[in-house]
Amino acid sequence: MSEHHVVDITIIGAGPVGLAAAYYAGHRDASVRIVESLGQLGGQVAAVYPEKHVYDVAGHPKIQGQALVDLCVEQGLQFGAETFLDQEVKDLQRVGQNGEQLLVLTTHEGESFPTRALIVTAGHGAFEPRKLEIEDIDAWEGCGLHYFVRRKEVFRDKTCVIVGGGDSALDWTLGLQDTARLPITLVHRRERFRALETSVKEARELEQKGDVRICAPAEVRDVRGDGLIQAVTLEDMTTGDRFEVDCEALITLLGFHSHLGSIADWGLDLHGKRQILVDPSTMETSLPSVYSAGDVAGYEGKITLISVGFGEAAIAANQAIAKIRGEKVQPKYSTD
Ligand SMILES: Cc1cc2nc3c(=O)[nH]c(=O)nc-3n(C[C@H](O)[C@H](O)[C@H](O)COP(=O)(O)OP(=O)(O)OC[C@H]3O[C@@H](n4cnc5c(N)ncnc54)[C@H](O)[C@@H]3O)c2cc1C
Repeated sequence: MSEHHVVDITIIGAGPVGLAAAYYAGHRDASVRIVESLGQLGGQVAAVYPEKHVYDVAGHPKIQGQALVDLCVEQGLQFGAETFLDQEVKDLQRVGQNGEQLLVLTTHEGESFPTRALIVTAGHGAFEPRKLEIEDIDAWEGCGLHYFVRRKEVFRDKTCVIVGGGDSALDWTLGLQDTARLPITLVHRRERFRALETSVKEARELEQKGDVRICAPAEVRDVRGDGLIQAVTLEDMTTGDRFEVDCEALITLLGFHSHLGSIADWGLDLHGKRQILVDPSTMETSLPSVYSAGDVAGYEGKITLISVGFGEAAIAANQAIAKIRGEKVQPKYSTD
């Protein structure tokens, strides 16, 4: 076990909200460390939708996901926050050291991180994609089956079948129009899509032009190929008819299974099954000096959006600092 030095604030998770918390804490001259389980910064935005445009972050009328998190990294790390990647936080203990009460985090990788306060910005926790219920579906991973669209170029001139009825499925049916071979086939097991109405309307318009083929309600029943995927069999859920569709890239965007992992066993009060309960006026959890913000923090009326998480990060960081220093909470503006 290698033990690191004590810092004022440790942040679990380097998504946009963790990076915002690092900015606010660094701006108040606190020593900051970020521990992240993935091998990259940027959370869900970098991992799941780096090339999708984001329209609802204040000050950015339209910005690509990766460009947004690159700016978050530049802003968040400017005061010298240390980052530790590929480190999944497992345990939390409270210890007394040199007259101070410290929190000590340990990771699956065997590192130990003592800290005066903790901000948990772990998003959905460790997440993995939901998969099609087809025997041996995993065997097609790396052979044409995709759970994410990380780089559009991977799909250049490919015959794509996208499966799903939510925003990701619709976003990429529209977003790959300039890259994939047309039409893109969109398969959803229900007739009605869950995605934003304007995206569904746009996809229906593209269907009229022949650039999208919508199969709904339909389900993928089989995947065929010789080493690489060549076709999928679909079942029309209304008639029961089965038919084959050419397919070089099968993109299943069915959401994620996610769990808080060992964080759920720390004795924190939870909000539902997936979120840590916080007092929204302080973002403090049921454990003293442990704060939370972003998607993982829950309270009545919570909306899981980046801009909401940014505000929560400011509250959590300022509250944590006030507590460490025994001061009243007051904002310090970021002017020179
Ligand atoms: C397809 C899609 C499109 C979206 N579009 C928008 C949009 O247009 N606008 C918008 O506002 N929001 C959008 N969102 C939601 C937005 O991405 C989230 O609200 C945002 O990413 C939350 O940020 P976060 O920092 O709280 O968590 P995350 O971005 O999830 O980051 C959490 C990080 O914590 C790490 N972590 C988890 N557990 C541990 C652990 N035990 N140890 C170490 N590290 C850990 C994870 O690896 C992850 O990197 C979208 C989400 C999806 C899936």
